[in-house]
Amino acid sequence: MSRSDLAGRLAISKAGMTAIVRDLLERGLVEEKELIRRQGRPAVRLCLKASAASLIGVSLQSDPVRVVLTDLRGEVLRSVHVQRHLEITACCDSLAEAVQKIQENLPDDIGPVMGIGVAQPGFVSRDRRICLASTVFGWKDVNVADPLSERTGFPVRIENDANVLALGELLFGEYAEERTHFSLVCLADGVGSGHVLGGRLQHGAHGGAGEIAHSPLVLDTADALPCRCGNRGCLETISSLKAMQGAARLAGLPEDIHLLSDVAMKGDPGALRILHRGAGALGLALAQMVQMLDPEQVIVALPEPLRAGLFGIVLKQEVERHVLRRAGQQVELILRDLPPDAFAVGAASLAAYRFLHGADPE
Ligand SMILES: [Zn+2]
Repeated sequence: MSRSDLAGRLAISKAGMTAIVRDLLERGLVEEKELIRRQGRPAVRLCLKASAASLIGVSLQSDPVRVVLTDLRGEVLRSVHVQRHLEITACCDSLAEAVQKIQENLPDDIGPVMGIGVAQPGFVSRDRRICLASTVFGWKDVNVADPLSERTGFPVRIENDANVLALGELLFGEYAEERTHFSLVCLADGVGSGHVLGGRLQHGAHGGAGEIAHSPLVLDTADALPCRCGNRGCLETISSLKAMQGAARLAGLPEDIHLLSDVAMKGDPGALRILHRGAGALGLALAQMVQMLDPEQVIVALPEPLRAGLFGIVLKQEVERHVLRRAGQQVELILRDLPPDAFAVGAASLAAYRFLHGADPE
């Protein structure tokens, strides 16, 4: 935006805005781009300078752990992989080594590292330092941020993995400037979702907002599959990659999701049933979510063969079938790939948010 557009948006005087921009230019946080030609005097477009700072994002979601260095726009500049340890001292030791390694011989055009964000499954405390509970890791009240901060010297914040994807979308995403109400759902080994309402990431009272994996999807639980949470018939037991792979194994079908999708495309009734059921259950869960939150967009990040094949088609149909039609207010459902670095880049957005706003997301 130009100085005068910014002044209008922030409701401050043009002189005041000019002084603020001068300060930001001197600090190297903002840069001047091309002239915007329109009625009256042409204006200079101002832009956040992506190289003003860099951030480190860590995804504990996968083993090996992914650690990335990004600029202020979420562009990955470097990445390293380290073995995952679930014992917290060993975990922080190996992460600190990776943080050290990723900063070695940084060229001058890469901005100074301003913080670390960590993405992990489970519930996280409101101050984003402590993992309150993670069934996947077997963690309960584990302080991750402070020991890592002590070892690296950087501020560290942690957040649920689906939530960092949503925050990454808010800060780095394609529509970041105009979109304020959206939900992001990711389908991987588990199922997760994060919600941004009114431009704010929703954390919930206990860090559990958006935990759709354990939404009950079956009325009669007697025949339903047991879930690792102790209940039966949760969404995760039907629609997660692990659940569909388990069903394929039992049916003597290929477990690899690419191969399973191929077999379904060729008309195998067993493979069709597994993908149909998985997509149908996820569609129901998304429909309920849309009814409750009324987002502008629902973004579903999932592996490519599921997005492009039968699973994606059934998912879209199922959401459409169950979502109330409101005149002119159709929710947009976007299916998208889940790149391997997505969680680590989302984690970096947590550090970027803190750097840009001087505070954590609420
Ligand atoms: Zn469950």
